[in-house]
Amino acid sequence: MSASFPLPPRTDTGGCSGSPLRFPAEAIAPQSQAYIRWLTDDMLFHYQRCHRRAFLDVYGDPSRQDPPSDYLLKLGQDSLNHRAEVLQGFQPLHRPQFAPGDWAAGAKATLDLMAQGVDTIHQAVLVMPAATEGVQLVSQPDLLVKQPGWSCWGAWVYAPIDIKLGKKPKLDYQVVAAYHAYVLSRVQGVWPEHSYLALRGGQLYPIELGRLVLKLQDTLNHCLQDLRSPHPPELFISHSRCDLCHWFGHCYGEAKTQRHLSLLPGVTPARYEFLRQHHINTVAALAETDPLYLAPLPGFGEAVAEKLIHQAQALIDNRAIPRTDHHAPHGFPLWPEDLPEAETELFFDIEAAPDQNLIYLHGVLVVNRLTGAETFHALLAESHDDEHRAWRDFLDLVHAYPDAPVYHFCPYEAQTVRKLGQRYGTANRHIDALLSRFFDVHKCVTDGVTLPIESYALKHIARWVGFDWRDEGANGAQSICWYNAWAETGDRAYLEAILRYNEDDCRATYHVKDWLVKFSEPYWERLYAAHGLAHEPLRGNRD
Ligand code: SF4
Repeated sequence: MSASFPLPPRTDTGGCSGSPLRFPAEAIAPQSQAYIRWLTDDMLFHYQRCHRRAFLDVYGDPSRQDPPSDYLLKLGQDSLNHRAEVLQGFQPLHRPQFAPGDWAAGAKATLDLMAQGVDTIHQAVLVMPAATEGVQLVSQPDLLVKQPGWSCWGAWVYAPIDIKLGKKPKLDYQVVAAYHAYVLSRVQGVWPEHSYLALRGGQLYPIELGRLVLKLQDTLNHCLQDLRSPHPPELFISHSRCDLCHWFGHCYGEAKTQRHLSLLPGVTPARYEFLRQHHINTVAALAETDPLYLAPLPGFGEAVAEKLIHQAQALIDNRAIPRTDHHAPHGFPLWPEDLPEAETELFFDIEAAPDQNLIYLHGVLVVNRLTGAETFHALLAESHDDEHRAWRDFLDLVHAYPDAPVYHFCPYEAQTVRKLGQRYGTANRHIDALLSRFFDVHKCVTDGVTLPIESYALKHIARWVGFDWRDEGANGAQSICWYNAWAETGDRAYLEAILRYNEDDCRATYHVKDWLVKFSEPYWERLYAAHGLAHEPLRGNRD
């Protein structure tokens, strides 16, 4: 713990639990909701990810929260395991005794331990009044660690450590770590030299407090302002952020009812603000907008403007709208070679557990376009040690069809094949040759067509073109949970669920690719006609 930062260095803040350093400008909501009495670090953390989440956590009806998914439960367990591992290195631990939620009692018990000068305090409660009247700031760092220095109690100070499961010191972690240091400075009368993050992988990351003070001040002020407002912050659905939130069902239902613009792919928070500033508040208004009007706005441009307007039009008419390429002779961005047809075609999907650095399944659907025969191959690693064997089996399978294009969805499969090649010493020329047969169906869809869907994830696209999964709740995160459950219990039913899900992903890719080829054919016919070519599509039984 030796990294240094210039500000704020060991500033005397006026004695133990002395008067608070007031941030210079605190925004006060004129119509205070005034229910909020305790602002915790947890609220501050969630506020940074979504303002509305912090508000709903304080005032929302808990019965409307979604139950945790298996994946969230797994993340919670992983977090507990990581925490236990870190805490092992700080024994013996002292812990203030207080009833859950009784912050005043927790703060008093913590002060007693700090005054005694115990070495390490686990789940300390630090409290100070906020500049907003009637609100107390509550900080609960995972650890307070005693260090040499001078505080209001004598020749020792405490430094806070927060334990986080993430591998990187994300800004929202750092702001909360700075918040711990800020509240601690009011309690012990002096700023700690550092606040720390104990991240996954064993690193102890020192926070540059001086760099974060202004950011913390700004976040804290806005958080208090929003939490004292009578109205929740505006809804904005972003699947990458909302899918793991326990208010998702609640917010999504509201967004669907309002036909909220955030449900359109490509409407980012920044673009949404510009649309609102230009009084484009509904899907219908966006559908009627001239692309030339939107294109000059920051973050738009011609391509984005056209895409967003098509997106709104597609949703209103429930139809697929082709994208245009004015430079192509057929006026369409996709070419036959983007989606090549062959006698045998492969549809490939990987299942992986990134937290274990493990690729546990290569699923390959082999389709003979002439006979219509479809065979699914599951090249499964039943344990970590089995990964190499599954990789070799995958290579044997794809080499058995040297002329077959390999269709996949998103870049992950190609990236993983490159990574596994390096991990197991497969010659680069073999990997390059294999990857030259890879075709990304997701890229072709997004390049070629606008669909009336909320997301260009495989599930959304495939469902719109008429394909559905056998297990409704199956997804990549659930597959990881099933794999862990298999490792723990040895129950093969979990493996079967994974294989079913993976096969359906391969079949969905097949279905989407076929749909896109048929959608593109009228444009390609123009190319064939221009070159005097007759073209007969290869089709199996599915037609
Ligand atoms: S679902 Fe999304 S918008 Fe709603 S509270 Fe959660 S993160 Fe915020």
